[in-house]
Amino acid sequence: MENELIHLEGFDIRCLSVNTLVIGSGAAALNAAVSLHSFGQHDLVIATSQWGGGTSNNAGSDKQTYYKLSLSGTQPDSVPEMAADLFNGRCMHGDIALCEAQGSVEAFMNLVRLGVKFPHDRFGAWAGYRTDHDNRSRATSAGPYTSKRMFEALAGEVKRRKIKILDRHQVISLLTDRVKSRVVGAIAINTRQKDPSKAFVLFNCENIILGTGGPAGIYETSVYPLSQDGSIGMAFKAGASGQNLTESQFGIASVKFRWNLSGSYQQAIPAYISTDKKGYDRREFLNQFFPDYGSLTKAIFLKGYQWPFDPGKIKGYGSSLIDLLVSREITEKKRRVFLDYTANPSFGESLAFSPDKLDPEVYDYLKNSGAIKKSPLERLLAINFPAYDLYKEHGIDLSKELLEIAVCAQHNNGGLKGDIWWESDLKHLFPVGEVNGSHGVYRPGGSALNSGQVGSYRAAWQIFRKYKNTVRETDIFLKQSKEEIEKELLLAGKWIAAGTRRENKKYLLEIRKRMSEAGGIIRNLSRVTSAASEAGETLNNLTDWIGAGSVRELAKTFQLADHCLTHFVYLEAIREYLAGGGRSRGSYLVTGDDNEAIDLSSESIDSAELCNYDRAIERDILEVNYREGKVFNKLVKPRKIPAQNLWFEKVWKDYLEDNSEGC
Ligand SMILES: Cc1cc2nc3c(=O)[nH]c(=O)nc-3n(C[C@H](O)[C@H](O)[C@H](O)COP(=O)(O)OP(=O)(O)OC[C@H]3O[C@@H](n4cnc5c(N)ncnc54)[C@H](O)[C@@H]3O)c2cc1C
Repeated sequence: MENELIHLEGFDIRCLSVNTLVIGSGAAALNAAVSLHSFGQHDLVIATSQWGGGTSNNAGSDKQTYYKLSLSGTQPDSVPEMAADLFNGRCMHGDIALCEAQGSVEAFMNLVRLGVKFPHDRFGAWAGYRTDHDNRSRATSAGPYTSKRMFEALAGEVKRRKIKILDRHQVISLLTDRVKSRVVGAIAINTRQKDPSKAFVLFNCENIILGTGGPAGIYETSVYPLSQDGSIGMAFKAGASGQNLTESQFGIASVKFRWNLSGSYQQAIPAYISTDKKGYDRREFLNQFFPDYGSLTKAIFLKGYQWPFDPGKIKGYGSSLIDLLVSREITEKKRRVFLDYTANPSFGESLAFSPDKLDPEVYDYLKNSGAIKKSPLERLLAINFPAYDLYKEHGIDLSKELLEIAVCAQHNNGGLKGDIWWESDLKHLFPVGEVNGSHGVYRPGGSALNSGQVGSYRAAWQIFRKYKNTVRETDIFLKQSKEEIEKELLLAGKWIAAGTRRENKKYLLEIRKRMSEAGGIIRNLSRVTSAASEAGETLNNLTDWIGAGSVRELAKTFQLADHCLTHFVYLEAIREYLAGGGRSRGSYLVTGDDNEAIDLSSESIDSAELCNYDRAIERDILEVNYREGKVFNKLVKPRKIPAQNLWFEKVWKDYLEDNSEGC
């Protein structure tokens, strides 16, 4: 790696020339770095805004799921079946589904080898369980902190291999060639520097692996950890296309300490209550929407393994009716909602738990778990006592206090478009992990982590075999990218001259509110149309309204601009889907007029129109590309799962000659 000092626009800038820049330090970015290094490409560097930050190291649930090919038991499984299950989630390309299924065992075993403690029996069977959208018990877990354990194992390997890490380096811009066909570098701010004129770092590189995670920073109501913001906007700005941006997952989570309330937290059947803003006027607001105790407790119980909100699971007193009611209580009625583990749902009668009135599925589960107990807390302790400890470790004692909740943004199924090597249409840029929108409308729980590992490995392999080239001379790089670099430096100079501005916070909150209101679980065309146009208006003027009084503020200001562009592109994609006649699916309900309250009468819910993929906008993948302030849309038919010719001698010959696309 070459290291030079250059002087531009009054800034002293360190310029690093390196074959591959890895941006971010989540599980996907780290696996890409480890894989690339293990193949033999040692000219790489990791630049991350916060080592230890991000979703992988800071999020989880009662039993955080990793989805993989089934490797034990009598139920047969195979790569084509797993690929078909991924593909059947709709709007996912079949060749990518095949790669994710094919690479699953290798990725999983790599984590095992690095020391992630996935449970197995004494014969070595990797036992599995069923997760959302999964009929084959492909899920496994290393406990509430599966992704954290993955981060720790991969971070240990990065350090063991002595891969260079530039911590507190926030990348603010991706540099391209003149025709925006490929990336050639990036600009970062070293937030440890005090002097803005010395804080910029340039990367002159052949390849960029982008592992910046999901767009957490654009939501007000969110269960992404606070240390995750996301930076997909800089890739849109550089010319990379997005896909399926309409598809995210939302679900019930605690807000004081951000954590998913899935699994045991719901299977313990706590009481759902709401209060006014000050905590008075306690009400069990779910009761009036359920006909009896059995259906209410079953819906709460099912939330355990039907965690994300799904408009298809509202009807017939389904589990997603709960999300809708929670959301309505907060957004329409302006009340606060809590789970109470000290009280049973009373259904207007006694506060005692009534096992005899439970649905047989619920009763059997609790009985088999030794959890027919008097209170939700006792049941939670019987099913999964570490789930109680986890909140205690974060200062919340469920035996004493109410747990405030909301329906929160949790995961983006869409993101940047990539090919079977996770390479973007902006060449030499490889989005891996959550920033890559490989998933479709529905995805099995845990497949995000599988996809992040498989994709990052494949990206590294492609870079190793195809993009070994030494980096261009610094002079040539600077000549080519001078204009783009100067633009960003001028912006930085302007913001520093403006100094600290209160408007930064105002606009950040405005972006988040707009996105949560118009792009959350309830969507309608009129609201999203005005939200998208307001977002465009803010985007056009934002750079004049904001400022920065320090290096850290400067980095945050660039991030704010990134969020602004991101929320504009996402809202435009949602608008396009709804305007094209797209109906409720995935994790959102499409409603009529903006001013109408959600009609929760059973007739209205029973007649709500779900997407049935008979319209092009629903059947095809919506791709978007941002150019000169506008979003251009394109519908692309999902590619089928390819038929493979696996005749061994043919595969072997191609592999040895390296003449097949797949080698
Ligand atoms: C509460 C919760 C529960 C979840 N449960 C599951 C589950 O059970 N199963 C499952 O499969 N998935 C689950 N997910 C999703 C999954 O955890 C994430 O999709 C995955 O961890 C994302 O990993 P990543 O490597 O892509 O990004 P992250 O781990 O988010 O890492 C992003 C990295 O990029 C860095 N970064 C960001 N912007 C910049 C920049 N501009 N410059 C430099 N660095 C930057 C950050 O500091 C961070 O290091 C869950 C998510 C949440 C929030």
